[in-house]
Amino acid sequence: MDIFHSSILFFYHITEKRKKNRKFVIFKFIYKKYFTMRQTQFFIPTLKELPNEAKIPSHQLMLRAGLVRGLAAGVFSFLPLGYRVIKKIMTILREEIDAIGGQEFLLPALNPIEIWEQTNRVEAMGDVLFHIKNRDGLVLAPTHEEIITYHAKQHIQSYRDMPQIWYQIQTKFRNEPRPKSGVLRGRQFIMKDAYSLDNSWEGLDLAYQKHYDAYVKIFNRCGIKFFVVGASSGAMGGKQSQEFMVESNSGEDVCAISENYAANLEVATSNVPPVSRIDKNPEIEEFATPNAKTIDDLVEQFAIPEERCAKSVLYMVDDKPWLILMRGNDELNETKLQAVAGTTNIRYIAPEELKELTGAEHGSIGPVNIPKNIKVVADLLLKNANGMVSGANKDGFHLKNIDLARDAKIDNYFDLRTVKEGELCIETGKPLRVVKAIELGHIFKLGTRYSQALEANFLDADGKTNPIIMGSYGIGVERIMACYIEQNFDDKGIIWNNTLAPFSVHLLGLNSHKSEEVAQACEEIYNKLNTENIETLFDDRAETAGVKFNDADLLGLPVQVIVGQKNLKENNIEIKVRRTDERFIIKLDELITWLKKFFDNK
Ligand code: ATP
Ligand code: MG
Repeated sequence: MDIFHSSILFFYHITEKRKKNRKFVIFKFIYKKYFTMRQTQFFIPTLKELPNEAKIPSHQLMLRAGLVRGLAAGVFSFLPLGYRVIKKIMTILREEIDAIGGQEFLLPALNPIEIWEQTNRVEAMGDVLFHIKNRDGLVLAPTHEEIITYHAKQHIQSYRDMPQIWYQIQTKFRNEPRPKSGVLRGRQFIMKDAYSLDNSWEGLDLAYQKHYDAYVKIFNRCGIKFFVVGASSGAMGGKQSQEFMVESNSGEDVCAISENYAANLEVATSNVPPVSRIDKNPEIEEFATPNAKTIDDLVEQFAIPEERCAKSVLYMVDDKPWLILMRGNDELNETKLQAVAGTTNIRYIAPEELKELTGAEHGSIGPVNIPKNIKVVADLLLKNANGMVSGANKDGFHLKNIDLARDAKIDNYFDLRTVKEGELCIETGKPLRVVKAIELGHIFKLGTRYSQALEANFLDADGKTNPIIMGSYGIGVERIMACYIEQNFDDKGIIWNNTLAPFSVHLLGLNSHKSEEVAQACEEIYNKLNTENIETLFDDRAETAGVKFNDADLLGLPVQVIVGQKNLKENNIEIKVRRTDERFIIKLDELITWLKKFFDNK
């Protein structure tokens, strides 16, 4: 608010309330001037057209409502309206992490590369880590486990120095390959990252649980619907980790969920009976299948039940060939394969390599008489199955009556299949839904992975040296904002709750530029809302009612207070609740009571 309007407000308070306590009035004025705004002065560049580059609702709406602007791929500027939301999210994060004993740091984004080399993460992060061209020895930090551990090593000496919870709200840099989801996947983004330092594993369990509980509170306060999944720890390393997920078509993760169960598809399992053994168990028989290249072809052309087909896929795992045998109608889950292989270095085999190794093409491969240098693993559902059909390792031929126990040498059976929609939950027996989701937060039990690498040790009560036991806990700040929008919008715009809304009330003066009466009433209401500390955006622009209504719906503040000449004649104003589209006509002097009651009940 500029000096001119500040003075008007000041003048208003002095004249209107002169008879009352003047000091009190001045105090209130100073306190409030930062969070009330007139739209004629506030920078809200709304867009009428859908920006081309924006493919998902949160990105589209954040651009249209003037919350952010893109600057480069994965790089965004937050405009004043958007930054108000970010600040509210940060306040909630600070309150909840402070409440579990967190102490706030601010660590630098520029990090010495040596520290990252010591934990082997320059290599593990690969291209995601930003290097700096004209200053050797520095990288841009994608996260801060290393730096926290470095400071812990400097100053934590005894078991008495712990537990500690250290956190920050700070900018991270990650060279994400193809950022296309707006602020959901930025190359620069803000993270609340917290780290626990403990002298015992029980201490770590406690710190982990505290963060779990704090995360539940944070997301509940923000009004975000979420679920929690157990997750693989990826490049972080460590023992146990969980992800807080938001169901959304804009998500890049896929999860299987049902009541009381949720798992990333990378680890999800379901209750599917194994392929049954059949009594008749004749010898294997080869048969010609010149036109059958897929399981569907086999099923159609030879009337073989789908589950009696065993599908073979070949992968190079650390440059060694593996044949993976799946039920015909199942998909191999590559992450599960990586987990059982103990490496991420896997790839689908190239056709020439396949031909050279087996003498046959994809579609005619099978586990019987496969060259010995190929390791054979099969999905658990195929354990001891018989009466199976699979490729004969000869183009255009398959084998039937295969008894996997009798005719093939299966090195190992693992759970390798991808869970499908509608399969039954292993815990509840209810059907699973397979949904796309966004990862909003992640909690890890790191253990001693970083403290060992950086030699961050402490002396225990017996005087013995031990590595510090650590946890790390991250939440994406912009992701909270974008996930909230993904869950709360309609065809007109965003629908904010009062916790995250940039302002609580949108005051709309209909034709206020033409009607002195409306303009005057709006000024009075605006000032009253200021006095009551109700954060208000006042649309005082010389625009038509239609433009104001559309913009108000697009911006999505929880309550619109609509001041029009007709209602004013009766001393009335109209209120519209953005989420429900409910409308109320109330007396002017009931406004504050109405709003307070409304916001208290939210
Ligand atoms: P993702 O799998 O989505 O890339 P991640 O596993 O790399 O996420 P973490 O390293 O656990 O994420 O980071 C902690 C949190 O930071 C994430 O839960 C997410 O909310 C946020 N985050 C991570 N990467 C980004 C990004 N590129 N843009 C915005 N927020 C991010
Ligand atoms: Mg990532």
